[in-house]
Amino acid sequence: MDSLLTQTEFDFRKDVRNFVKQELMPHVEEWERRKKFARESVKKFADYGLFGILVPPEYGGLGGSVTEYLLASIEIARASTSLASIFGSSAGICSAAILNFGTDEQKKHYVPPIVSGDLFPCFAVTEPAAGSDAAKLATTATRDGDDWILNGTKSFITGGDAADVLLIFATVDKSLGAKGITAFLVDRDTPGFSVSKVEDLIGMHASSACELFFRDCRIPGSAVLGEIGKGLRVAFSSLDLGRIHVAGQGIGLSEAALEASLAYTADREQFGQPIGDFQGIQWMLADMSVGIDAASLLALSAARKAESGKPYSTESVKAKLYAAETAADVSRKAVQLHGGYGCTRDMPVERYYRDAKMIEIYEGTNEILRTVIARNLRS
Ligand SMILES: Cc1cc2nc3c(=O)[nH]c(=O)nc-3n(C[C@H](O)[C@H](O)[C@H](O)COP(=O)(O)OP(=O)(O)OC[C@H]3O[C@@H](n4cnc5c(N)ncnc54)[C@H](O)[C@@H]3O)c2cc1C
Repeated sequence: MDSLLTQTEFDFRKDVRNFVKQELMPHVEEWERRKKFARESVKKFADYGLFGILVPPEYGGLGGSVTEYLLASIEIARASTSLASIFGSSAGICSAAILNFGTDEQKKHYVPPIVSGDLFPCFAVTEPAAGSDAAKLATTATRDGDDWILNGTKSFITGGDAADVLLIFATVDKSLGAKGITAFLVDRDTPGFSVSKVEDLIGMHASSACELFFRDCRIPGSAVLGEIGKGLRVAFSSLDLGRIHVAGQGIGLSEAALEASLAYTADREQFGQPIGDFQGIQWMLADMSVGIDAASLLALSAARKAESGKPYSTESVKAKLYAAETAADVSRKAVQLHGGYGCTRDMPVERYYRDAKMIEIYEGTNEILRTVIARNLRS
């Protein structure tokens, strides 16, 4: 992938790798073991300017490219998928939704503090009975004078326990189906909002996935993001960008798993020689490397298409699907190559294996992404 980058992109990647090495790596194992959202990382990302990577300078950002956003996701995920997830919420999906659909006032109010790390956002679509079928969400927003009253439950919301502002999707009229869904920005301290559960997840232990509860939660009319009834447009266009980031998570995790495997198989001896000298082991390493290159090219192609200003939904779906399956495959092979030691907490590969499973689920499961690709092929 590096040979296809401009010098600026290449230098940016190197800089982010140094930042990750110095500022994140020393804390990763402790933060993962603690099993809590690593709030400390928010300030580190913000201080380095990474939350503003896609944000225009007028809102305090760097005005960078989608490719740089992808590269940052890869580099952070080489250290920790959880931390990459924290980066993605602020730098991508939430700030992009506000920039693309917000009023001037909303942009000025929310985006600079997201970039500076003073506000952490979350993106809340999923509900207990509406996962893949997001259009069936049941959280209601009922008009009361100029205000809206929210009632409902959201599930698996990344960073929901740490978020200062919630981008939530609710229906203003269930009889309208998808056309009733509307996006709202809700401040955390709004009465009627609470975090009802923090999930005990298989992986990504330095992040969090939470159940959020809204009971007669009154928000002002100015909290609507975009047009009433056009919430799914806000959600889906944000997910197009978000999936390039998630592809980056899969690629970064896979690169780390391959590096660990190369080092281990060069060192570990059985039958009087390093196990890396066995052809069966080499073929596994080769397949891991091919998968990573293929995933990287798909992700880069999606990022370039996004930068061209043309629709890039199919490219970003393909990139996310392929990178997620690559991460699952590469991390499974990495554990296998480490033998029994790969199953212990002493080795990072067990974490990659647990985290990779989740990449296959959020921002569209493998099955749903295949359905989207097939639908686009047939249309
Ligand atoms: C760690 C984590 C973080 C998350 N963060 C967020 C977040 O920040 N914000 C948010 O809104 N959501 C978030 N989610 C939720 C995530 O997007 C959903 O879990 C996902 O969309 C799947 O929904 P579900 O879990 O209800 O599964 P379901 O939709 O019930 O699916 C169950 C199974 O059925 C399959 N399936 C469903 N429909 C079809 C179909 N038509 N054809 C074939 N197979 C099908 C699925 O692929 C899956 O294998 C997160 C989830 C996790 C695990």
